[in-house]
Amino acid sequence: MQHCENCHTQFQWKKVYRYLWGPIIKPFRCHACNQEHLITMKARFMLSLLYLPTTLFLLFLPPFQNILLNLGIGILLLLISSLLSPFVVRFKLDYTNESRF
Ligand SMILES: [Zn+2]
Repeated sequence: MQHCENCHTQFQWKKVYRYLWGPIIKPFRCHACNQEHLITMKARFMLSLLYLPTTLFLLFLPPFQNILLNLGIGILLLLISSLLSPFVVRFKLDYTNESRF
């Protein structure tokens, strides 16, 4: 997991996880020092790569005749991708925000 660029506290998995389910346009706040971080463009790209197998599976390659089985595996893939996503994302300091203070 990434550390805060301000106070070097390690981000908590569940905080990042919850953040990723929200609107990621908003900055991510360090739980220790409240420093706001923005998700990097590279991290957004990595996130989309992470979800790509699930998307491809659901849209193009359902290998089984049983739709419930396909759906179940799709949901499982989605779950695994989302559980891994906090490890993939990278944040940078929100410099734009500092000028407000
Ligand atoms: Zn911090």
